[in-house]
Amino acid sequence: MSSEKLYNGGLPQFSTLAPFDHQPRTRLIFGINCVERVGDLTRELPASKVLLVTDPGIVAAGHSERVRRFLEKAGLRVTVFDQSEENPTTGCVDACLQIAKSSGIDAFVAVGGGSSLDTAKGCNFLLTNGGRMQDYWGSGKATKPLLPLIAIPTTAGTGSECQSFALIADSETHEKMACGDPKAAPRIAILDPVLTLSQPLRVTACTGVDAIAHVVETAVTKKRTALSLMYAHEGFKLTVPNLPRIFENPNDLEARGRMQLGAAFAGLAIENSMLGAAHSAANPLTAHYGIVHGQAVGMMLPYVVRFNGQDREALRAYAELASAPEIACVSDGPEKALDALIAHLESLLQLSGMPRSLAACGVQASMIPTLADEAARQWTASFNPRPPSAKDFMSLYQSALEGRKA
Ligand SMILES: [Zn+2]
Repeated sequence: MSSEKLYNGGLPQFSTLAPFDHQPRTRLIFGINCVERVGDLTRELPASKVLLVTDPGIVAAGHSERVRRFLEKAGLRVTVFDQSEENPTTGCVDACLQIAKSSGIDAFVAVGGGSSLDTAKGCNFLLTNGGRMQDYWGSGKATKPLLPLIAIPTTAGTGSECQSFALIADSETHEKMACGDPKAAPRIAILDPVLTLSQPLRVTACTGVDAIAHVVETAVTKKRTALSLMYAHEGFKLTVPNLPRIFENPNDLEARGRMQLGAAFAGLAIENSMLGAAHSAANPLTAHYGIVHGQAVGMMLPYVVRFNGQDREALRAYAELASAPEIACVSDGPEKALDALIAHLESLLQLSGMPRSLAACGVQASMIPTLADEAARQWTASFNPRPPSAKDFMSLYQSALEGRKA
């Protein structure tokens, strides 16, 4: 008998026993007014010349000027790129790159929503490794080290501050490219809930629903592990009860803080287990109709959860997720828990003031085959517990078009 392996059997059919290799890459700093530490933290990287990446809305809210002052007070030289755009494109990253190249920087500080963070990450790839954004589509394509990045989110949504992926849209094809590399993960994420108070209510709603969709999707993906589930469940408990509290009182700093932490934990869940079919279905809606990411994901989510609920393991996983913030109780049976979860998601969408049908967003029935075809080709679809075909996406879109009950 000669075998290198101690155990030669197959893995038990228990997906949370899936193997993982998790290295925390992002130092998380959380607290009210902790953004004031950004100067010292950047200097300690070490760094001396910084590119501050942000967007016009964040400039108007006064956040970028404040961060700039903290950096300069610590003796850092600061150049600003404030033209990050929603759903950043390759054109936007190229514009940022021009500024980065001419300033001789040794670090990035990104302040804003996922768009600013992703623009900085995209620019970091090109500045340090050359080529064009398309070269980094996929995972682990950067061969040289990247510059350190400090991420300061002002929304509670994308979780980009905890991820090694940047979502950049091709300026010509509008296709969203997920460009990832462990080296692209922010070195530090500064989570200061005070910064999220300035979000317009619509941004709070769309990013909040996106964060909740992240935990719902990561909780059932094929790549989920015991570790990613821990982040997903904690993220669900933090976000689901607190988004309605923020709608009631946008200045509720405690609810804002919990929401921001939940979004970051959801980001860590994605980093470890990827996403699912609601994101696959959302991307073509954003590409063709400009529907905001969080809204597109939110509108598709209840239908995807119902679709996935036909898989026994996913059904069980949803029931466990719904039990964490007491939306349901597993002991009442997984089917009941699934119904309760879907009803709760639908009520959250209602509270968020989102249109309840794709038709109300201008989506035409004649486009459904094109949308379905594109959705089925999205990378995230391959991690969904039930692999959806283009035909499956057609019926998901049809239900969403009419705003049927999931
Ligand atoms: Zn998302």
